[in-house]
Amino acid sequence: MEKLFAVKGMNDILPPDSARWEWFEDQVRRQMERCAYRNIRTPIVEPTALFVRGTGETTDIVEKEMYSFDDRLNGEALTLRPENTPGVVRAAIEHNLTYDGGKRLYYMGPMFRHERPQRGRYRQFYQLGAEALGFAGPELDAELMLLAYQLLSDLGVRSMRIELNSLGIPSERHAHRAALIVYFEKHVDLLDEDARRRLRTNPLRILDTKNPAMQDLVHQAPQLLDFLGEHSLKHFDTVKKLLSACGVQWTVNPRLVRGLDYYSHTVFEFITDELGAQGTLCGGGRYDGLFELLGGKPTPAVGWGMGVERVLELLKAQGHVGVVPNLDAYAIIPDEVGLSDAMQCLQVLRSQGISVQMHASTADGRGSIKSQFKRANASGARFALIFGADERAQGLVTIKALRDGLGIQFAESLHQPAQWVKRLQSAA
Ligand code: ATP
Ligand code: MG
Repeated sequence: MEKLFAVKGMNDILPPDSARWEWFEDQVRRQMERCAYRNIRTPIVEPTALFVRGTGETTDIVEKEMYSFDDRLNGEALTLRPENTPGVVRAAIEHNLTYDGGKRLYYMGPMFRHERPQRGRYRQFYQLGAEALGFAGPELDAELMLLAYQLLSDLGVRSMRIELNSLGIPSERHAHRAALIVYFEKHVDLLDEDARRRLRTNPLRILDTKNPAMQDLVHQAPQLLDFLGEHSLKHFDTVKKLLSACGVQWTVNPRLVRGLDYYSHTVFEFITDELGAQGTLCGGGRYDGLFELLGGKPTPAVGWGMGVERVLELLKAQGHVGVVPNLDAYAIIPDEVGLSDAMQCLQVLRSQGISVQMHASTADGRGSIKSQFKRANASGARFALIFGADERAQGLVTIKALRDGLGIQFAESLHQPAQWVKRLQSAA
């Protein structure tokens, strides 16, 4: 038969690398709990209209990156989620989540975007995201950024910087947009094809261009910050002051506009220079208009999304050693007669929190004691449990320290595995 392969840009996450993922997820849960953010899980498939409206028709995501399809049975237009903020807001509206006040939420899971696969850019990738719904104050913008900052620092990420900007409110953006169109029209010869197309639909996004030939032009374009009113400036100022007060450094990047349409006020990115072009680890901002756009009541909100692969790749590049799962014991079972006793013991040990791997037979049989010991040593377990025939005849099991256990060995009663637990938990 012909071999089958994973879809291009979609990765298998295998042991031992998957241990780093589990470690990451554990750290995330702890950090979220410490900040009182609660877990939300929304479907991976959503109506296509959610992203067309929520993410925005003129974004790269909706224009060219979505995995959209018609349900074969009823023709419904569906999409594999390219991001999860619209899904979270849809769920919040659907279940009236903010009826008794603001909610702090987080999620972690796969997202799908049809992009050109390269390091740090995949077609299925994982995002961790945090969203605070129903809070208008700038202290929530700061809280969320501090949450991401502390998480990344605790994970061991070095060399990241924070860039931020304010997109103000719609009326301020409209005034800026008009000025931008005038400016870019004056220099239309210098615009690339993408920018020309965007000039009428979404000129702000031209500022987001990665085209080196357009950098000078973009640097001299009218800045949104100059169009902000008093309220917007104060909001932005408070965010910056709170970050500084908490010892977090930031720089304002007036060209930071973010790819998505729904942002207002604060937008920010956590960036590293160590991953080449895919250096943005985390991006987010305030999106006070999104609830209304999706048919809900006006509800202020702010959040971010973090690329899990990028964070883990950065840690690896920084020399983060892998995470080795703990294994307390390896069960050596020389003959089939011993299986029943042994497996009963393992059940008891596991229920007491001992991790234990059972030797399993292959097509060639169970293997000699010597070859089973070889496996035990390779497994990384601290102890070998030997369920041999001689031991069995005396109602015993032999427990032998592996690794640097210096050959320490003792016998225990085969019928009272609960009494081995203390010894198995101790260092060899
Ligand atoms: P980029 O400019 O790198 O395409 P983006 O603005 O499209 O990023 P967001 O939609 O803000 O990204 O998603 C938040 C984070 O998710 C990004 O900062 C990045 O870390 C990660 N991310 C986005 N797209 C991908 C992808 N295709 N593969 C891996 N990670 C991704
Ligand atoms: Mg992108």
